[in-house]
Amino acid sequence: MLVGAKRRFCSMKSISNMKNCISPAIIMRIKEFGESDLLVYFFTLDMGRLKGVAKGARRSRRRFVNCLDNFCLVDLEYDLKGKGDLHFIHSGKLIDAYPGLRTDFATLSKASFMIELTEILFPWELPDRKMFELLKESFRLLANGGGGDLIPVIFEVKAMALGGYGINLEKCCTCGRTYTGEGTAVFKPGKGGIACLNCQEITAVSTGMSPGTVEIMRLIQSKAPDVFNKPAISDEIISEIKPVMKLHREYHLGQRTKTSSYLE
Ligand SMILES: [Zn+2]
Repeated sequence: MLVGAKRRFCSMKSISNMKNCISPAIIMRIKEFGESDLLVYFFTLDMGRLKGVAKGARRSRRRFVNCLDNFCLVDLEYDLKGKGDLHFIHSGKLIDAYPGLRTDFATLSKASFMIELTEILFPWELPDRKMFELLKESFRLLANGGGGDLIPVIFEVKAMALGGYGINLEKCCTCGRTYTGEGTAVFKPGKGGIACLNCQEITAVSTGMSPGTVEIMRLIQSKAPDVFNKPAISDEIISEIKPVMKLHREYHLGQRTKTSSYLE
């Protein structure tokens, strides 16, 4: 059972190698498991991405009132078993269900894309607090009516950087000249960086970026954790970032994201 907010993080039990944990978690996906159980994939603040079994959760949801639904932010109590094992989920307490994420298909698709990208970028049991906060804040803003593509675009640029796929926006990846914020830069997916117009012309697979776009992308990649609290980003900048991120994502992740159609 949940025992208040005191025991927020994992503590080792003396009787075995199991750790009993209570931590904030975002429910990523749920599957039926056996006769009456649920298999729960979740992303925790302090232990990264985990999967566990909620015993009997399909028969009785008393221990998980309104908790076991995609996107929910919950305080989850679970026993952490060995690395790679299925963990045992005891109970959950809802913090925020983000109902606004389920009101229309477009918003649902954006939230699903965020989950999927997090799953691809972060292996099991690799904690990343900045990524957790990014996902949580993105859900909150999106659920509160953050329309358009601003939230998913910021999310994707930041998530890729946190996952090790930041774009080099400092200098031309061919001649090495520092980009001083003047003139069009050209994104080169194979290099994961920008080139100057002397070195690379704009093509279908090398998209152009205005100085304002490069500056905003630098800001998103570097600024943490409050990446959303910044000057307004124009629609023009968003429409330049989207093809960059599509090329960047497809180069590194291939066609692995099934939900990326939000960007099309
Ligand atoms: Zn150059």
